[in-house]
Amino acid sequence: MFKKFCCIENADMSRYSTIKLGGHVRWLLFPRDEVEFVEAYQISKKAGYEPVVFGNGSNILFDIDFFDGVVISTRYLGRIERLEDARVSVGAGVNLFLLNSKLAQMELGGMEWSYGIPASLGGLIYMNGGAFGSEIKDVLESVTVFDGEKIFELKQEHLNFSYRNSGLGKLTVLGGVLRLFDKDSSKILETMADVLEKRKNSQPYEKPSLGSVFKRVQASEVLYPAKMIDSLGLKGVKIGGVEISTKHAGFIINSENGTAEDFKSLVELIEKKVKQKYQIELEREVIYLSERSRR
Ligand SMILES: Cc1cc2nc3c(=O)[nH]c(=O)nc-3n(C[C@H](O)[C@H](O)[C@H](O)COP(=O)(O)OP(=O)(O)OC[C@H]3O[C@@H](n4cnc5c(N)ncnc54)[C@H](O)[C@@H]3O)c2cc1C
Repeated sequence: MFKKFCCIENADMSRYSTIKLGGHVRWLLFPRDEVEFVEAYQISKKAGYEPVVFGNGSNILFDIDFFDGVVISTRYLGRIERLEDARVSVGAGVNLFLLNSKLAQMELGGMEWSYGIPASLGGLIYMNGGAFGSEIKDVLESVTVFDGEKIFELKQEHLNFSYRNSGLGKLTVLGGVLRLFDKDSSKILETMADVLEKRKNSQPYEKPSLGSVFKRVQASEVLYPAKMIDSLGLKGVKIGGVEISTKHAGFIINSENGTAEDFKSLVELIEKKVKQKYQIELEREVIYLSERSRR
């Protein structure tokens, strides 16, 4: 069915996940541009599959042993094009390491905070990712989306961004225009290095993970899940091959050939303990394929 596309049948998704665990999917497609993307999506739909789109696999848990469906990677939507007025048009699949290096070459500042997030731009937009007081929505002028039938553009101000949520729902991000500012390459590189050092000092950066598992809690004051988890003495607690990082209690790392089931059990344990002590229901930032495929 997908012969004309770059496609892997019965793909092992642990290879496409930053936590290096997860099940298999029946079809994994890598469209080479937007035209192929639309075609692949529509062929899947006609065949009765609701495709799940993903970027760099740094926030999605492939928690189904065998997903009898289609997963589409944005990896090759890799356009980076400079526009007038310190703006840049970027494909959804562009990795943030590459993007930041290119922006430094172009002498465009404003994205340095994202250096070291192992994500695609599309994933970052979809999640409204952020760090160190910035969020992608702050520099996003517009986003190109696909609704399953047509491609169109949405201005940032018409979108419903909130903390770690773009409100894009079922839409696929194909790319975005970023509004940046002129800055010396050397200064950009300096800020990028600082940002990466901060990450390495505060996170289990070299270990396979999906980043912060839970969202901050927006109560009368902001509550940090990592602090709550730490206060419960849960750092280092293991289930199967995954464990709560001893460096940052908000991260679960795959330390010994863990499974998605181990991950989910540890998440449940944390949720239960936090609820018992703080009467707070934590909200997950990590997305499960089993939930995403139903949306
Ligand atoms: C070490 C580490 C550090 C991290 N640090 C941060 C941080 O500082 N700040 C932060 O916000 N996050 C951080 N994260 C989490 C993660 O990188 C972000 O959530 C990121 O935005 C996910 O991008 P991705 O391309 O990997 O998305 P994926 O994990 O591939 O997908 C995440 C979700 O977005 C959807 N999606 C992906 N691409 C698209 C698209 N083009 N169109 C529509 N839907 C799409 C998927 O279906 C899924 O629901 C970190 C993760 C790790 C492993």
